[in-house]
Amino acid sequence: MTTDSKRIINVGVLGATGTVGQRFLILLSNHPNFKLIKIGASKRSSNQTYQSIVKWKQTVPIPQDFQDLVVSECDPKEFDGCEIIFSGLDSDVSEEIETKFRLKDFPVFSNSKSFRRDGLCPLVVPLVNPDHLHQIPYQRSQLTSPSYPITKGFIVTNANCSTTGLVVVLKALESSFGPIEKVRMTTFQAISGGGYPGVSSLDILDNVIPYIEGEEEKIQWETQKILGNLSTDQTEIILRSNELQTSCNHTKTNRIDISVTTTRVPVLDGHLSDVSVSFKNKPIPSIDEIQQVLKSYRTDANSLQCFSAPQFPIFVHHQIDRPQPRLDRYFQNGSGINIGRIRKCEVLDIKFIILTNNVSIGAATSSIMNAELTVAKGLI
Ligand code: NAP
Repeated sequence: MTTDSKRIINVGVLGATGTVGQRFLILLSNHPNFKLIKIGASKRSSNQTYQSIVKWKQTVPIPQDFQDLVVSECDPKEFDGCEIIFSGLDSDVSEEIETKFRLKDFPVFSNSKSFRRDGLCPLVVPLVNPDHLHQIPYQRSQLTSPSYPITKGFIVTNANCSTTGLVVVLKALESSFGPIEKVRMTTFQAISGGGYPGVSSLDILDNVIPYIEGEEEKIQWETQKILGNLSTDQTEIILRSNELQTSCNHTKTNRIDISVTTTRVPVLDGHLSDVSVSFKNKPIPSIDEIQQVLKSYRTDANSLQCFSAPQFPIFVHHQIDRPQPRLDRYFQNGSGINIGRIRKCEVLDIKFIILTNNVSIGAATSSIMNAELTVAKGLI
C-alpha cells in the first residue's frame, strides 16, 4: 500500500476503549486508506457511544469522526463490512475472540501475547521481518474447512513492546556486521505498558518495581522467532534457538543468548532499555561504523512507501543524555526507534540506550504498518 494508493479499506478495532485501542483511533483518524467503521469492547461498554463510555487518556481529543460511534460487543456479526480487524483486546479474552473472527474469515492484526508462539501465526515487527507475512497463505490452508471456509482470514501478531525496539536494532546490526551472539538488557518500562488502570499509584509513585510478570521470557523468546527465518516453502518460522538444537556448527553459531531484567518506572509512555551486545565476528566495528549503519537502516515499509513508516526507522541521538521518554517518545509520531549513548562496553562489545514508544511502534503503529505491508504484498 503506497501513499498514493486510492484503495479504501473498511476496518474495525476490537478493544477500542483500552490504552492500545485509543492509540488505534488516533492513528486511524487520518489514515488515507483505512476507514474505521466499527469499534468493539466488552459487554459493559457496548451499545453506548464511544465518547460516553471511554476513559480517554490521550493528550489530543477523541477524533471527531469517532466520538459518536456506538461500541459493539466483539462478535464477528457486528463487524460485517470490515475487511481488516485490529485488536487491542485484553490478553485474557483475545485468544477466544480473535479465533472467532478468523473463523469468520476476517484478517486480524493482534497485539496480545496469545498467538505469538503459535506455529501458524507470523510474529511481525514491521521494521524487521515483514517477509514472515508470506506464511499467511499456509495458515489459511491449514485452518480452512467445509464448515468454515477461510479465504481471507488469518491472525498476524506484533511483538511485546520492549522486544520491538530491541529487534529493530539487532536486525540492523546483524545485516551489516553478522551475527549477534549475546545480549544483556535491562528495561525501564512506562506505566501505560500495563494497560488501564495498570499498576496502582501507591506502588509506582516515588518508586521502581524490579519485576513485570512474564515480560522477560517474552523478550527472550520472541526475539528468537522474529529474527528467525521463514522456511523456503513458507510454512514455518525456524527459530534462532532451534537452529542450535537441530543443526550443524554453522547455524549453531547464529543462536542469540539473551539475558533480560524488566522494571516498571513512573513514566507515562515510552520504554527505555539499556542494552549491551557482543558480535560473533571480530574485530568489532567502530562506533562510527555502527552509527552510520543504524542511521542508514531502511526497511520494506520504506521502499513500499507505507503511510505509517517512519522516515528514520532508527534515529540516532548524539546528545549524551538522549533519548529520553518525555522528550523523544513522540518523535516521528512514535513510529521509529530512538537510540543513543552508543559506546564500547567493558564486558560485552558495545552498549547503548533504546527508547521505544510502547503504545505506538510497540503496539498500534506496528499493527497498522503490518496491515499496510500485507496489503502492499497482495496478501489481503
Ligand atoms: P487495556 O487498556 O486494559 O484495554 C483492554 C481492552 O480490552 C479494553 O477495550 C476492554 O474493554 C477490552 N476487553 C476487556 N475484556 C473484554 C471482554 N470480555 N470482551 C471484549 N473486550 C474486552 O489494555 P491495553 O494496554 O490496551 O492492551 C491491549 C492488548 O495489547 C493486551 O493484550 C496487551 O498485552 C497488548 N499490548 C499492550 C501494550 C501497551 O503498551 N499497553 C503494548 C503492546 C501490547 P472495556 O473498556 O469495555 O473493558
